[in-house]
Amino acid sequence: MAGKLLVIGFGPGSAEHITKRARDAIEESDIIIGYTTYVELIQGLLTHQEIVSTGMTEEVSRAREAVRQAEQGKKVAVISSGDAGVYGMAGLIYEVLVEKGWREADGVEVEVIPGISAINSSAALLGAPIMHDACTISLSDHLTPWELIAKRIDAAAGADFVIALYNPKSGRRTRQIVEAQRIILKHRSPDTPVGIVKSAYRDRQHVEITTLDRMLDHDIGMLTTVIIGNASTFVYDGKIITPRGYQRKYTLTSDNQPLKPYERLRSENEPWALEATLKPAVDQGRGTESQARMDEHVRVVGSTGIDSEQQMESGVHTARANQAIETIRTSPAAHTVADRSPAQLAQEALSTLQRSLGLQVETYDSPSNETSCQQPLFRQETIFECAVSPGIVNKKFTPQQMILLAEIAGERGEIEYTPHHQIILRIPNAEPANITRRLEEAGLLLMPVGDVLQVKACDFCNGEKKDAIPYAEELHARLGGQSLPKELRIGFNGCGMACYGAVKEDIGIVYRKGGFDLFLGAKTVGRSAHAGVPVAEGIKPDELLPVLTRIIEQYRSTGFPDERFHKFFKRVGVVEGFAYREVATVTIENAVCGE
Ligand code: SAH
Repeated sequence: MAGKLLVIGFGPGSAEHITKRARDAIEESDIIIGYTTYVELIQGLLTHQEIVSTGMTEEVSRAREAVRQAEQGKKVAVISSGDAGVYGMAGLIYEVLVEKGWREADGVEVEVIPGISAINSSAALLGAPIMHDACTISLSDHLTPWELIAKRIDAAAGADFVIALYNPKSGRRTRQIVEAQRIILKHRSPDTPVGIVKSAYRDRQHVEITTLDRMLDHDIGMLTTVIIGNASTFVYDGKIITPRGYQRKYTLTSDNQPLKPYERLRSENEPWALEATLKPAVDQGRGTESQARMDEHVRVVGSTGIDSEQQMESGVHTARANQAIETIRTSPAAHTVADRSPAQLAQEALSTLQRSLGLQVETYDSPSNETSCQQPLFRQETIFECAVSPGIVNKKFTPQQMILLAEIAGERGEIEYTPHHQIILRIPNAEPANITRRLEEAGLLLMPVGDVLQVKACDFCNGEKKDAIPYAEELHARLGGQSLPKELRIGFNGCGMACYGAVKEDIGIVYRKGGFDLFLGAKTVGRSAHAGVPVAEGIKPDELLPVLTRIIEQYRSTGFPDERFHKFFKRVGVVEGFAYREVATVTIENAVCGE
């Protein structure tokens, strides 16, 4: 009778989470070999099998016994919890076989049966923390030098992997988890979400969600898996979620995607992909290579926050990155740019960015490189960004509101005032829910930033000309904040003076003689800026919202990504029955200059 080794992972420990193949394999075995606790866990599945259970440090004798029995013709099940190939018995079984000169062709048959490993079962209980690149690290230094474990923790944390710590702590090994936390904190924010799962899918299951700096306040033991989020990971309603990056291309708040299906995989829509980042260096000659590399590195930094935070706008980073490059170009030492290596230039660009963005950039000795070259490491940071104003009509901040803004911005936040009746707040490593609650409680109006609709009203002569105020507020409530192909502003002015410049916005509305005048398609920026085309006068108050809703809907659903409203209006020709008319342009002769 031919023997067989069945190396079985039986999952986290509950009957529902054992695979059918694992059950069948246990059933067809003559002998079950395993750690005492594991044998107890699968007790319910045992019928006729002989049991060989041993203690903790008996893995080698267990493996040797299993091989011996199989060679004698027995079907032997070697059981591990989770997956047998993840810190389980599969590797050791093969190692013992290798020592004996075993070959698959003529040796005993071996079948490794996969199971649900602790990283998977724990992640499922926590939400979706390992949606992006993740790794497992065992903190057990019984068989692995601590120096190597520490190096791996450092590298994984520096490279922004989600990390699942196995064997985090035992009665004797209590310092390892403290050290691991210390190393990870060098790279990650103290408020990085951490999930602590004890006895997943077993009787004493306990799930805890905490942060990197507080993780040691919780009970961690032999049966615990600790999952540490990456720089994008967030907690929502008791779940840890790591974004996959969909926010880079898709909007999750609308059925209407900015990119049509056929555009989604185009290289111009993936500026972060390998292909795109390599291009400048390949296309251009040696002289511009250093610049290309600088741009490349800057782009890496520039994109760090995008999927970390829904309301992050890549333009913010891009503008900053360009500034950083410009600072280096125009610095007194600029003439030496050509003398410096691409790596030096990139490092310099990063340091400049670091100062302006608050991103922390580190260097480390690359372990894989014999010459130990200095490489930049990126530490990601989330930046919460939102627009704040005292109201749609009210233009006055109270001193208390200003104090609150300063408090919330803190040392590292940014408060920027814009030409659009808004202040933009940018807060690194913020907890958005907490901030928005405080701002709203102080009576401030919050708006997302980016390609959204903003209603920009006048102050209605300090509230004296108040007839149209309810309409402005209704437009904001019903239309404001929605995502569009490009940022769009509806200017709303309460009298014919239109002194707040409604006619110069993408869509202008001027209240006059009990009705509304409508202007469409102003070109709001550039040297050829012009006012909107006057398309209607005296729109009845109850028709205003429906008309605007239809115009916006047409723009939202048929505008190209990044297409400004005036371009859209010109391209489609007619919007909601209103025809586009060419705006008169004046050509100015170049000034004559002396020879
Ligand atoms: N082969 C197993 C891992 C064995 S190492 C697997 O793939 O899951 C033992 C470690 O696994 C424990 O210290 C703990 O970190 C983790 N672990 C195993 N079972 C677990 C469970 N039910 N809940 C949480 N963590 C578990």
